[in-house]
Amino acid sequence: MSSARLLDHDGTAPSPGALGTGGTEHCAAALTLAVLLLAGGAAGLVELALDGVVRDGVARWTHAAAAAALLLAAVPLLVRRRAGLWQTSGLVLLGDLAYVVAALCTEDPVRYAPPLVLLVPSVVAAWFLRPWMLAVHLVVTPVACWIALADSHPGAVALAVQVGVHAGVLDLAAVAVLVLRRRMERLLVETEALSHRDPLTGLANRRQLVDQAPRTWRQARRAGLRVAAMVLDLDHFKQVNDVHGHAAGDAVLRAVAAALAATVRPSDLLARVGGEELVVLGLVGDPTEAGRLAERLRHAVSATRSAYGHAVTASIGVALTNPVDGEDATDALWRLVDRADAAMYEAKQAGRDRVAAFSPPRPRATPTDEHLPSGHGRPAPGRLDPPTVPGTAGSPPVPRDPH
Ligand code: GH3
Ligand code: MG
Ligand code: MG
Repeated sequence: MSSARLLDHDGTAPSPGALGTGGTEHCAAALTLAVLLLAGGAAGLVELALDGVVRDGVARWTHAAAAAALLLAAVPLLVRRRAGLWQTSGLVLLGDLAYVVAALCTEDPVRYAPPLVLLVPSVVAAWFLRPWMLAVHLVVTPVACWIALADSHPGAVALAVQVGVHAGVLDLAAVAVLVLRRRMERLLVETEALSHRDPLTGLANRRQLVDQAPRTWRQARRAGLRVAAMVLDLDHFKQVNDVHGHAAGDAVLRAVAAALAATVRPSDLLARVGGEELVVLGLVGDPTEAGRLAERLRHAVSATRSAYGHAVTASIGVALTNPVDGEDATDALWRLVDRADAAMYEAKQAGRDRVAAFSPPRPRATPTDEHLPSGHGRPAPGRLDPPTVPGTAGSPPVPRDPH
């Protein structure tokens, strides 16, 4: 994942380590920055109040101004509860500058303004900013250390060694935080991907099917197409396990999954939703197209041989819906899958290894996916289109579509 993933395109609210992208993360990031600024500002004010820490004269006012700047910079973060990318970058540089000012204004920078203070802007830069912005900070750090420590180490070599040690440690810490953040982001992406995949077949899982539904419904409305769901259930699969063992059963599942994945259209979603049940979700122009695709899937399954040479067949139920504005895509998805499931059971009862299309039991005014097409007449309750005879794919059953 690129670091851009951490940040909104408008430059708003880097989320800490991409552990989330919601408002809570933005708010937590802004509050973290605000607390760091308030702590820095308060420390500056405390130093002012202590005798013998801050130099007298202009240095005192400058030191007070730097502390006030830190405190004031926290206000917009507390009010808006969001931190922009450029804003955060500016705050990092403000932190660097405040450190230099504090070091120049104190009597003994080594004691009262040690370079360790720069660890705060370093960590913030490494965690929240883009790599090039962090690179700027990595260059600023030795410069800030040099200016801050110059008066404390008159000899150039001693100063160079001190700057090298301090800036080196600070920059190394920043790079380590960056590496850690990247690793966490990668793990997060991998975990997210795994949570949407079925581990046995590598197909999408139920969660991915649900996540995909709103997009599918939107696309169907935009393109004026219908959503088709096909529920596939392997026939007598228990026997495969019982006779040949579960490893052989697993091999069949993997082989069937691969064959189906090669058969569905690129835009279709193929998901394993149960033990030996799969769902294909896709857009179709008309019921005939859905029937043809289902028949291709049935053929693909029956033509498949597992690594152990075993074969199975599948019973497939097909249902269509015409999405309407305002309907809940997840509800509509499960209604559609339920109807395809009912059709699949009809295919089982009719002898397995065949496709059956859902036919609505009776006409209703709403919702749209249960309307009967005009001119189709009224089928008997529960009646389905005749399933195909296995192996005669010439005229696949046409799902009754309400529209
Ligand atoms: P039907 O034609 O009526 O669908 O018969 P069936 O035997 O396929 O149906 P049933 O529901 O009785 O059996 C499904 C079997 O699928 C039972 C279970 O052992 C098997 N199964 C489910 N998940 C897995 C899996 O991940 N691996 C293996 N090997 N078998 C599985
Ligand atoms: Mg089953
Ligand atoms: Mg089965």
